Amino acid sequence: MSTLSVVATPIGNLQDASPRALEVLRTADAIICEDTRVTAKLLAAHGISRPLLSHHHHSTKDKTQDIIDRLARGENLALVTDAGTPAISDPGGELVRDVVAAIGDGVTVTPIPGPCAAIAALSVSGFPADRFVFLGFPPHKNGRRTWFKEIAGRPETVVFYESTHRIDKTLSQLGEAVGSRALVVCRELTKLHETIYRGTAAEIVAAVKATSDKGEFVIVLSPAVPRSRA
Ligand code: SAM
Repeated sequence: MSTLSVVATPIGNLQDASPRALEVLRTADAIICEDTRVTAKLLAAHGISRPLLSHHHHSTKDKTQDIIDRLARGENLALVTDAGTPAISDPGGELVRDVVAAIGDGVTVTPIPGPCAAIAALSVSGFPADRFVFLGFPPHKNGRRTWFKEIAGRPETVVFYESTHRIDKTLSQLGEAVGSRALVVCRELTKLHETIYRGTAAEIVAAVKATSDKGEFVIVLSPAVPRSRA
């Protein structure tokens, strides 16, 4: 039976690819990836050369069908995205859904676990992690105010993503909603400019201004009702 391996890749530091992930990539018939340039860099760093099949949010049905046909023919494929764990706020999940719907028991879908920015940030937050909610990205336009109001009332630790383009706006709006609640904001995890900011939204806005708002961010909000750490 063919296998679709869902492989987590580094979120910055290329040495974070696990030996098992590299072995699966080295031996796959082909690697399905989001941006071939990003994956080519990872493969080159580890001396791996395999055919790449691009698949992303805007891929046509034909591309998805080609992947399904390959698996149905018995090919072993690896699925990666640009960073971290496929399907976590990126396109991998749609492909897994389509493959399972089309082939079901005819393919083994197996995870090769590894880096995930949300989990990495949660692990250093110091906030309760026995119960948390991950919310992907805040809405870009409509419904932002309601979104921040809702997360402000959540009884669990809240983790979400933000890009460099909206980090200032997001931290300001979050501050309006949560006041002086404790936050942890992680910038550029595992990379040269990794910075972990701790404090209130207002303190972190000032700290980000004093350092840099460039890069990728994960925001971790402490629970509305303080609980002891698990
Ligand atoms: N699948 C990925 C994962 O497992 O973390 C997430 C993909 S999502 C499209 C990209 C977002 O993840 C970025 O905008 C940022 O919020 C977060 N992210 C990814 N790498 C990061 C890093 N090294 N440091 C901080 N945040 C990161």
